[in-house]
Amino acid sequence: MPYQIWINGKHASGTSGSVIEVRNPATEEIIDTAPAANAADVDLAVSAAQATFPAWKRLPAGQKAEMLHEVAQKLSERTDEIARLLTLEGGKPLIENKDEMGWSAACFRYYAEIGRSSRGRVIPSVEESQLAMVLKEPYGVVAAIVPWNYPILLMAWKVAPALAAGNTVVLKPSEMTPLSTLLFAEIFEHLPPGVINIVSGYGKDCGEPLVLDRRVRVIAFTGSLATGQRIAQLVAPQMKKLHLELGGKDAFIVAEDADLEVAVPGVAWAALLNAGQVCTSTERVYVQESIAPQFIDRIADYAKSLRLGPGIEPETDMGPIIGQRYREKIEDQVAAARTQGAQILTGGRRPPQFERGYFYEPTVMTNVDHSMAIMSEETFGPTIPIMTYQTFDEAIALANDSKYGLGANLYTHDPVKVKRFFEEVEAGTLWINDPLTDNDAGPFGGFKMSGMGRELGEEGLDEFRETKHVHWDFEGGKKPWWYPYGK
Ligand code: NAD
Repeated sequence: MPYQIWINGKHASGTSGSVIEVRNPATEEIIDTAPAANAADVDLAVSAAQATFPAWKRLPAGQKAEMLHEVAQKLSERTDEIARLLTLEGGKPLIENKDEMGWSAACFRYYAEIGRSSRGRVIPSVEESQLAMVLKEPYGVVAAIVPWNYPILLMAWKVAPALAAGNTVVLKPSEMTPLSTLLFAEIFEHLPPGVINIVSGYGKDCGEPLVLDRRVRVIAFTGSLATGQRIAQLVAPQMKKLHLELGGKDAFIVAEDADLEVAVPGVAWAALLNAGQVCTSTERVYVQESIAPQFIDRIADYAKSLRLGPGIEPETDMGPIIGQRYREKIEDQVAAARTQGAQILTGGRRPPQFERGYFYEPTVMTNVDHSMAIMSEETFGPTIPIMTYQTFDEAIALANDSKYGLGANLYTHDPVKVKRFFEEVEAGTLWINDPLTDNDAGPFGGFKMSGMGRELGEEGLDEFRETKHVHWDFEGGKKPWWYPYGK
């Protein structure tokens, strides 16, 4: 069966008749097509989500939890199949996509449980005859808009809390990786029709009508800063709830006591995982001067030793970049840095052994500074630009010298540095000796232009809940402070 969109519990081919050609970034071949949904499809999807919202909101939380556990179960059972498809359309090594399936299932389990155990709180009332409550309520229809780098995980981070909180959802995957998400029609099919709808399409023709639909009450978006700004501008007149997870330029500070046996592969993994296409990829490295020569030599050798190839092959460490224009952005930044005096120690080119595929070599460079785009703009590629520092003050100032503030990393066992790092660095996630791990129970999101709101944790559930303060006077008598005054 061709890939189809999914509205009100039914497959559909979309009203536009146009399709998205989905390419394998390792071979540049077209794998398959997905419907390019348009405003008419979005209208149907939002109508279905809106119609079913009151019943879904009222459904007891325990029953919602059972259904979310079933999503996790089905996802776990189909890990291999979905991870394979995701590798073909998204390029990441298969092992990373299997991990992504595991984390996504865990996220559904986490929200199944916390969703059923929290409804708000009772607070002390101002009068003896009153009961005062803070109630958490779903908003209504949520638009979940997802990028291509972790399509299933970032879908789970939005859909699981949104549904657990009692909202209904219209989900739009990226046009680069729609196929694996469209398979989820089968994984969600036990949910009541309309509770979740999936429309594949382009940003302009599908994403914009979705965010502009007045019945959509929350936009939960992960993607680039430019698209986040565009969405915020579009919907400003509607004052709807925006939850934006945007770009990053994460710093990694390596202190002089770092064990290079650990720090070299750790920094390389944080920078090169998914070919550097992680929102929290390390994109700037600051090494203390006294250990810099050894660190730089070793990380250049290490980067050179990694095996590039199609993600579907088990011995591939690093797959391709998602597409041509994304690779060109990396190439432009590296070329500009080179012109400005950067020294490329390894990489800095397309690997000559591949005739096809959007591959780019892991690239280690020095002689860089913050005037260069490679140190100030998001690269989203396998680059490791390294600067040295003398004092820890300097390292913290460099880490904070960015418009972004998504995550930051540190290698040290010096507790004084650790405390300064987590108190002074302006970022939503701070990793000390533990690059890039996630924890469903802990919030994830950015400072500054990396976005607003948090995913995961209790904060991630609250993003999908409105807050009501209920004052209930059960005696209901006349109040002495009413009119007339002066008596
Ligand atoms: P993108 O902004 O191009 O696209 C993201 C999604 O938005 C896609 O589904 C796309 O179709 C849709 N879209 C595009 N234009 C739109 C519009 N005008 N209206 C509505 N929807 C629109 O981003 P991308 O290239 O897919 O993803 C890479 C970016 O995502 C990077 O900047 C990365 O840092 C960021 N990202 C952030 C996080 C995080 O948690 N902060 C996680 C992963 C990726």
